[in-house]
Amino acid sequence: MARTVAVVPHTHWDREWYQPFQTFRLRLVDLLDDLLPRLEADPSYARFLLDGQMAVVDDYLELRPRAEEQLRRLGASGRLSMGPWYVLMDEFCVSGETIVRDLQFGLERAAAFGGAMEVGYLPDMFGHVAQMPQILRAAGFEHAVVWRGVPSAVDRTGFWWSAPDGSTVRAEYLPVGYGNGAAMPDDAKALVARIRAHEQEVADLLVDGMLWMNGTDHQTPQPWLGRVVAEANALQDDYHIAITSLAEYLASAPTEALPSWQGELRSGARANLLMGVASNRVDVKQAAARTERALERRAEPLSALFLPPDRWPHAELTLAWKEVIRNSAHDSSCACSADEVVDAVLHRYADARQVGEGLARKALRGLAYSLAEAGAYVVNPSARARGGVVQLLVPEIGPIDGTQVVFARQASTEVFDLTGGELNMVLGRIRNDEIAAGCDVVAVEAEDTDGGYEVVLTTGVRRRSSADAALSDLYAQAGARRTSPVRLRVEREPFQVVLARVNEVPGYGWLRWEPEPLQSPVSVDGLVMDNGVVRVEVSPTDGTFSVNGLAGLDRLVDDGDDGDTYNYSPPAQDVVVDRPVVVDVTVVESGPVRARLRITRHYQWPERVVDGARAGERAIDVVSVLELRAGEDIVCVETTLDNTCRDHRLRAWFPLPSAAEVSRAECAFAVVERGLTAEGGPHEYGLPTFPSRRFVSAGGLTLAHEGLLEYELVDGGRALALTLLRCTGKLSGTDMAYRPWPAGPPFPVEGAQMQGPQVLRYAVRASDGDPYALVDDVFLPLEVATAPGGGDLPPAGSALSVQGGEVSAVVRRGGALEVRVFNPSSEDTVVTVEGHTGWLVDLRGRPLEPFDGSFSLRPWGIATAHLDG
Ligand SMILES: [Zn+2]
Repeated sequence: MARTVAVVPHTHWDREWYQPFQTFRLRLVDLLDDLLPRLEADPSYARFLLDGQMAVVDDYLELRPRAEEQLRRLGASGRLSMGPWYVLMDEFCVSGETIVRDLQFGLERAAAFGGAMEVGYLPDMFGHVAQMPQILRAAGFEHAVVWRGVPSAVDRTGFWWSAPDGSTVRAEYLPVGYGNGAAMPDDAKALVARIRAHEQEVADLLVDGMLWMNGTDHQTPQPWLGRVVAEANALQDDYHIAITSLAEYLASAPTEALPSWQGELRSGARANLLMGVASNRVDVKQAAARTERALERRAEPLSALFLPPDRWPHAELTLAWKEVIRNSAHDSSCACSADEVVDAVLHRYADARQVGEGLARKALRGLAYSLAEAGAYVVNPSARARGGVVQLLVPEIGPIDGTQVVFARQASTEVFDLTGGELNMVLGRIRNDEIAAGCDVVAVEAEDTDGGYEVVLTTGVRRRSSADAALSDLYAQAGARRTSPVRLRVEREPFQVVLARVNEVPGYGWLRWEPEPLQSPVSVDGLVMDNGVVRVEVSPTDGTFSVNGLAGLDRLVDDGDDGDTYNYSPPAQDVVVDRPVVVDVTVVESGPVRARLRITRHYQWPERVVDGARAGERAIDVVSVLELRAGEDIVCVETTLDNTCRDHRLRAWFPLPSAAEVSRAECAFAVVERGLTAEGGPHEYGLPTFPSRRFVSAGGLTLAHEGLLEYELVDGGRALALTLLRCTGKLSGTDMAYRPWPAGPPFPVEGAQMQGPQVLRYAVRASDGDPYALVDDVFLPLEVATAPGGGDLPPAGSALSVQGGEVSAVVRRGGALEVRVFNPSSEDTVVTVEGHTGWLVDLRGRPLEPFDGSFSLRPWGIATAHLDG
């Protein structure tokens, strides 16, 4: 019987990569200007796959708005496959929530063009997260298409791929990638010969038919496609060659006797995984972490819960998410790109983060004005009830029980003789803190006297709700006296900035702050910080520290890197520096709420790699500030350095309480286990460096970090190494020890050398405990809101209680609250959403089942709950 050869014409469109977005877009416009009329004129060019991402459509329509109707026609007729993604993201360099939003955004956009392709098309991602089958099933998909990452244990072009919760899709495996049929010969005989050769190449893997992906990176359509396929069919009987779509091909793809695989796909057995993208351009990874946190953990939940439903900032969040989603593209978030591209990525992240932080501030202000009693309130932006250290402005000078003074300012009075116009300028800048010095204007008095207009502004901590209106009135009054004399007296009430530990604030709740005695205060004695829970001692000889006797933590190990943005690769002659020349330690803060020690380590590092050998020398000072807070078992570290060395990798090593065979790292909606080795292949050395989203645990120790994705179990599992910096000068190298062939163009990229100041934030806990709680405690601190009084909310309360799972998102959809939660464990759980009924919905918002107050969630399950209004 003839073997089916399913030809899927397509192009793989990296929106930005070795060239910037606009440069590639001009080529995209040319491609679609050519393709769309061709499809309408030539029925034999039966199908085209628009790379599974709607961004391609939007990028085109922005310049060719009149083509919308044509695209809609071709989409609705099935000639053109669009979506389901908005962009082809990387799955490890972004959060699970970004992956979900990417899919939702793509599905929503594709709906305007006749609907999305019902296939989880994942052609070029640098490996696949364990939960991808569950994400796809939750959007109604039964199929995935994958290339990189598939292990040697999968020995067929089709396999059952399961997520940790058991959700399974049929995965079509492209063993030599998405371009196996890119170069379609213009000659029928040559095409048949090419198909025969490819059949032999993948013979052992073939399940039945052969998928012939006719396209590759930025490839334009080959106009002879329909003709040459017809001629090749007429020429022989061994193959039935059909131009089709992925969805049509997969609908009848064999499902019998397929191998199975559960969990993530991170093997380099048959294709490069390119695991080193997790550690290049740490600035991009840090920006991603901060931006996703600003949106997912602050702007969205705070706006959803503390603002009236009709003030949900839909447009602002859509704008911000669109930037984050665009950045999630595999060449963008992975930063294996030209410097101009990385600049654009950083700019998009900054834009989105600014929106997120601004929305969070607005929501906190909304809460502040809703509270009945004036005062300082501690607000918890996470679902779990928890305590923590906050920084507060208080209207007293002098010791306050249980607090630590950071800064104090005595009462003062200043008098300025101005004109009304000058007063207006001053008033315009009050929000910029020039007058208020960190406080608010709390009272305004103004009167006309014989000597002119006299104004008294009182600044202080106790916000009064009448002050805002009085300031607006004063602004108008001053405007009416532009050239007249005005005497301004600024009365500054005394205040101080204090640190205080709050013992427990309800999840998504608030609590009016009152001084209380400090439990487990932290103290400093020489090189030791101790809070009664943990004792941290710095070694004066090498600058490492110990936690409760576990010594040698944060040993900095600097080695050479002769690789590129895709892969670490050791130089032929490496020099490894793991000891400083001199160490200085100073006390920055000595408690009782927060203690900080500054460790300055002076190193001599080789300057660069020349002809495969580390050469030269540079004096580098690395400054690490260790922080221990009252009542906590976490040591926070902020390491800074001015990097003037090139071609190197800097890692922080953490000896483990007990040797580990496995690590457990956060990836999208899961904690995944990895061992001490990784599967490589002829194209790439199996380097066992792995990505973690925000934390990794091994041997009784947990590291939390902000964008420091790459780790490795080293020293036979006795230590965990966290990559702080990886500096190389090539987009893609050639002939590298760990990867013989290029992964992209061999362009120099100066930005990837990470020259200049670097700030790296991480934290260590040398005991067991919930790692999700740890990352919140370190990177999602309790917030403070100052209430003027006059609202109706009580001094303590909670806007939403979600127990029994890890909350991934709180948003408003159609005015109602929607909560996404997952079960980060291998045990069943019951998720309680106190006082709420609603429906569990899928990722397209389609109802699955109703719930009343609670619902059960399978191990590693993800659920989206739409709450009744
Ligand atoms: Zn790509």
